[in-house]
Amino acid sequence: MRKKLVVGNWKMNGSLARNEALVAELRKLLRPDGVDVVVCPPFVYLSQVKALIKDAIIAVGAQSLSSAKEGAYTGEVSGSMLADLGCSWVIVGHSERRSGYGETNVVVATKVQAALDSGVRPILCVGETLEQRDAGVAEEVVGSQVDAVVSALGVEAASFVVLAYEPVWAIGTGKTATPEQAQAMHAFIRDRLVRSGVSAQGVKILYGGSVTAVNASLLFSKPDIDGALVGGASLVAEGFSAICAAA
Ligand code: PGA
Repeated sequence: MRKKLVVGNWKMNGSLARNEALVAELRKLLRPDGVDVVVCPPFVYLSQVKALIKDAIIAVGAQSLSSAKEGAYTGEVSGSMLADLGCSWVIVGHSERRSGYGETNVVVATKVQAALDSGVRPILCVGETLEQRDAGVAEEVVGSQVDAVVSALGVEAASFVVLAYEPVWAIGTGKTATPEQAQAMHAFIRDRLVRSGVSAQGVKILYGGSVTAVNASLLFSKPDIDGALVGGASLVAEGFSAICAAA
């Protein structure tokens, strides 16, 4: 049995005051029995949110990291800096990073490696665009995103990576993949890992893309859906805690 994991990706939202209110609400509402919960605020608020959480019911993650260890990389944040702040997770290769900041499969693989080297668990995002799904190449695209990381890391390290299947057409659109569509792709990803030699039965594969308190239970009922990466709905304590309760 894989324990469910629900990750809130706050994206570029929040302020000192709003984060304080949101964490206070979450601490009241969350009953994280049987589910691991992570929130990923912007870099500048990681220390604040880590301090506000106090107890261990919520872990803190970052939304990206540099592939480099340290040095002349203006504006970048390294994996060891994240570890230094007590940040135990990091999202890597989110579609907004791939499409807006030139993160190719090769770049994403080096970032996943950098996270592991720093002792920060990577959450590797993969997913196809609507054009790719309509063209019938969704599995090919997702398969190559997975392969790029497995071949760069090797099968042993790859088994420590959490994956998040996030169809680009479902992110922030209110258009969730059906539980059947998501399950089919999750099973494909797990099979792809197994074929590459990764012992994938313990690997968590999260679904992301317009997850809400309404659709979470059905998604979580599928055998290969091990939790969720939640964007918009993670900014509202009631909604996010209801998603966690459904896990
Ligand atoms: P959404 O975002 O839940 O707002 O669709 C998900 C994500 O981008 O991780």
